Amino acid sequence: MFDHSEYISLLKDLEIFFQYATEENLVTSNLKPDELRANIDLKIGNSVSDEDLRSLIQQYLKYSVKTSHPRYFNQLWGGFQKAGFMGDVISSAANTSMYTHEVAPVATLIEKELVQKMGKIAGFENPEGQFTTGGSNGNLMAVVMARHQACERGKQEGLFGQQKMVIFTSAESHYSILKAANITGIGADQVWKVEVDDEGKMDMGNLRRLIQKAREEGSMPMMMVGTAGTTVRGAYDPLEEMADIAREEGLWFHVDGAWGGSALLSSKHRYLLKGVERADSFVWDAHKMMGMSLMCSVLLVREKGKMMSTFSADHSKYLFRDEEASDDLGPSSMHCGRKNDALKLWLAWKSLGDEGWERIIDYFFELAEYAEQIIHEFDQLELVVPRSYTNVCFRFIPKGKDGKDGQDFDAFTSKLRQELLASGHSMVNQAMVEGKEVIRLVICNHSTKKKHVEQFFEEVVRVGEGLNCRYM
Ligand SMILES: *Cc1c(COP(=O)(O)O)cnc(C)c1O
Repeated sequence: MFDHSEYISLLKDLEIFFQYATEENLVTSNLKPDELRANIDLKIGNSVSDEDLRSLIQQYLKYSVKTSHPRYFNQLWGGFQKAGFMGDVISSAANTSMYTHEVAPVATLIEKELVQKMGKIAGFENPEGQFTTGGSNGNLMAVVMARHQACERGKQEGLFGQQKMVIFTSAESHYSILKAANITGIGADQVWKVEVDDEGKMDMGNLRRLIQKAREEGSMPMMMVGTAGTTVRGAYDPLEEMADIAREEGLWFHVDGAWGGSALLSSKHRYLLKGVERADSFVWDAHKMMGMSLMCSVLLVREKGKMMSTFSADHSKYLFRDEEASDDLGPSSMHCGRKNDALKLWLAWKSLGDEGWERIIDYFFELAEYAEQIIHEFDQLELVVPRSYTNVCFRFIPKGKDGKDGQDFDAFTSKLRQELLASGHSMVNQAMVEGKEVIRLVICNHSTKKKHVEQFFEEVVRVGEGLNCRYM
């Protein structure tokens, strides 16, 4: 039987977990696998008591990274969003699967409502779409749709004897495009990387030349992927110009807005995605800047019916009795069983309203601007590339004993990041941009306020100066 009191005591442990994640505590204990093994009884075999189970839960929570901590900047997601959290818990409690209206009646309507809402925000007049298990899988589905447009017989017959098909995407696009090309049989070598300019935007002249080159080689250009908010530096490709080229060349135009799609929620910043309304498909993660717990990602498609023609399968009559006429999401999906990820976003949106989202997105931009100001105030800090979104790529410039700039900046940046991690005070990632190692601060955490950005930089400068004394 379901014991409510036990359930409630688990929620009490969760309360403790969220108390760990406050600013006076550490973000991470940063333990090595061996240290963790020594602290947690991982082996599975004999049955343990409920009491032991509870202590395992407490250990799990204790040693997990506190991603809702206000100085957690490590990934493109983080923080805590109340209504979204409740929606996720409720979705698990009501446990359903998104394939049929029969088993997920309310959830199906909620998901369709969100697809219409988000599709219209993107500028699609009559959109279709689905929640997927993440932006990577949304991109994969888009590649399948592009392939289906370029080579319809591929769906049944496969790609035997098929001319090579080429996908064009920027040199700084997400690696999931390569994975999608691998999985779909297009081949990762057929993903051609287009050069980017100083701001990280795709170069249109280079794109045109590469399309021409592919045709000259006897390959078939099939798809262009524009990135709205690149993972490392947050650059936006020129989507309008890409849409023109896609139309001229007859290519599927996909926009990967997994990270940067949320700028559409702000009337001040949505210009960054100008042209997305002409895309064939668009991926937008709500588990990144919108702060939903993982996973919460939507694939939006401009023209209705394309998902069904691409993804329907023949042998599913036991589940889907009348594919064409039904309200089921399953037939036009890549998944079979699928969790209800729409509920949390719907509840959060109900609670915040359109204005609430706008306020949050604008605040993230302000915080990123503020971070940039702080960098300019410190001599030792350098903004390495210009900022477009809320990615702030910077580094600490070490000085030699002679007062001149030190030599090995990249190694210094890596050491600095390791020391930041070891202190557990904050968590931030590093990345390569324009051949330079940088600290990538991303602002998207719903718990972060101005003072946490200040605390972060104080720590960076303190740790950086300490390192500088020891190594230079
Ligand atoms: C994060 C990201 C992805 C992958 O999204 P997941 O939801 O993590 O699968 C794809 N593209 C871009 C540009 C991203 O930043």
